[in-house]
Amino acid sequence: MSKEKLLLIPGPTPVLPRVLEALARPTVSHVSPEMVRELRESCENLKKIVFSEKGEPFIISGAGTLAMEMAVLNTAGPKERVLVVSQGYFGLRMGQICRAFEIRHDVLGCEWGKAVTPDDLRAQLRRNFYQVVVCTHVDTATGACSPVEKYARIVREAGALFIVDGVCATGGIPERMDGWSIDVVFTAAQKCLGAPPGLALLVFSERAMEKRRSLESIPAYYSDLLRWLPVMHDPAKYFSTPCVNEIRALHEGLRVIMEEGIEARFRRHDLHARAMRAGLAALGFGLFTEARFEASTLSVAVYPDGVDDQAFRATLYDNGVVVAGGLAETAGKVFRMGHMGNLSAADVLFALGAVEKTLEALGRGFKPGAGVAAARAVLEA
Ligand code: PMP
Repeated sequence: MSKEKLLLIPGPTPVLPRVLEALARPTVSHVSPEMVRELRESCENLKKIVFSEKGEPFIISGAGTLAMEMAVLNTAGPKERVLVVSQGYFGLRMGQICRAFEIRHDVLGCEWGKAVTPDDLRAQLRRNFYQVVVCTHVDTATGACSPVEKYARIVREAGALFIVDGVCATGGIPERMDGWSIDVVFTAAQKCLGAPPGLALLVFSERAMEKRRSLESIPAYYSDLLRWLPVMHDPAKYFSTPCVNEIRALHEGLRVIMEEGIEARFRRHDLHARAMRAGLAALGFGLFTEARFEASTLSVAVYPDGVDDQAFRATLYDNGVVVAGGLAETAGKVFRMGHMGNLSAADVLFALGAVEKTLEALGRGFKPGAGVAAARAVLEA
């Protein structure tokens, strides 16, 4: 990333030069042959990333929060009930969205750093009938990854539609829509897909599309997927002007993923996560997320006693790496480091080297080289 800082916040993630070059290509007509081809290919690649044969992909200007809104508005009817399965921050946001649209809902939560267990979900689905269940795959505030495959089975048995917020997971952690029976997966361009922010992406299963059609009108205009469907089938049609350059960048970003291979990409995310966490632990950091729920897309590192959050992150920045602070109840106690998208093993080692330099600058005692060595041991095993 030349003189740039290595952007290791949990989204947006570093954007490869070839993707930035695609962003800088001419702003073509939204109905031009180039755009038609690039949007079509992007839709096909998006389906491959979530393992959906017959789903309907949607690529819409906006960000993850728009995708959250679109997912529930297009599946939950006026008198229906939604269950929001929440690990914390982004589950609560989903609850707020339901409230804003007066959708009846319950939030099934858990302690931060954990995920709701399949047994707790099953028990809740026995207590009440819900037409729609929505979960966060990885909560970006807590680093907790939910057992989506297990949830999917339980939700299917209960006869509800199942929506997965994949904003911090899709393209980095498996989400097998057809195989696991997931009805909607949504994400945003700026996380594991490694494209610049600005696009909301959703894939609706056939069942989810049937559900949308059965609702007739919904309290949305721009967010109504039935207005977008003709455009996604034939991008030469107009509904609302798409952000052409963003789509060109996403198109290139998705090509990068296809070249790497999606399964190889999942393995790389897992390897880098293990290396990063081994390095952080060797330098005296705790890990906020309970081990069995750790996501391979980010780590939430707990400061050793006496390390000041502001000073740490400012010094780390000077050493070339940008990380994020904690949100809500974790503010000041943790930093969040994303390792998703197009990171290399060299980036992981560089980041840990920068953390070491930062600890040294702050006068903290640690074994020099221990972080990098621990990560190398994982990477080279
Ligand atoms: N869901 C999750 C899990 C997220 O991490 C985020 C963003 N951090 C969102 C939803 C909202 O996405 P955006 O910021 O792109 O609106």
